[in-house]
Amino acid sequence: PAAGEVVLDVQAIRKQFGGLTAVNDISFQIQAGQIVGLIGPNGAGKSTTFNLITGVLGMTSGQVVFRGQAVGGKPSREISRLGMARTFQHVKMIADMTVLENVALGAHTRGSKGVLPAMLRTNRAEEQRLFREAQRQLERIGMGAYLHEQAGNLAMGPQRLMEIARALCADPALLLLDEPAAGLRHKEKQALADVLRQLQREGVSILLVEHDMDLVMQVCDHLVVMEFGTLLTQGTPAHVQQDPKVRAAYLGT
Ligand code: ADP
Ligand code: MG
Repeated sequence: PAAGEVVLDVQAIRKQFGGLTAVNDISFQIQAGQIVGLIGPNGAGKSTTFNLITGVLGMTSGQVVFRGQAVGGKPSREISRLGMARTFQHVKMIADMTVLENVALGAHTRGSKGVLPAMLRTNRAEEQRLFREAQRQLERIGMGAYLHEQAGNLAMGPQRLMEIARALCADPALLLLDEPAAGLRHKEKQALADVLRQLQREGVSILLVEHDMDLVMQVCDHLVVMEFGTLLTQGTPAHVQQDPKVRAAYLGT
């Protein structure tokens, strides 16, 4: 991707749940190779924003343009095929399968299809391709030593990296991560930060919903701060950190 190219253009998106406006005219952009953090207190509308962008939820109004293409209203499977991949807040895995198997399966089932149909419908050649791709992505982010470990035996840090490897199997231009640092130890957070910076160098753009302010301040180029569904402020981490509105609403100082 060319530097300065807008990968994601979120244009005044809004989501109404009955009388509640969960997301109220939110606009921001992600440029090629940027890591953008989406932060704000619980209930601010971060997950809903995430779901609007990825097509998991339909929006009430507004538009999302991804790599020059309007994707608002498209189903999530179609959006993911255009080069957008996400992880979920809670790790989804089959505990008694290996890391490699989990990533290969997830690569196949990304979108809404269930695990079982995927297992039944995959032919031998496709299965081999999925396993090769899964291995390549695990090795890419330093998980080569874990390929044949049982997923259920992994510590939290490697579990989150497994999720990221799974999302990477789609070779996304944009990766959306939902609280990847939740529950991680300090060292695991550092390993995660290293992986995010590596992916950034490799040209992957990232949208990060995260509560861990250390991580956010460390890796993000741009921050979008939400409160009660609205955009409180956005800008560089340094700018946002000094904003009195943010300090009052979010940092509690
Ligand atoms: P955050 O991720 O920032 O904690 P959410 O996007 O999950 O916030 O929620 C924003 C607001 O929308 C909250 O008040 C929440 O209760 C409400 N909300 C989220 N999803 C739904 C839904 N499916 N139906 C009704 N209200 C919802
Ligand atoms: Mg949330």
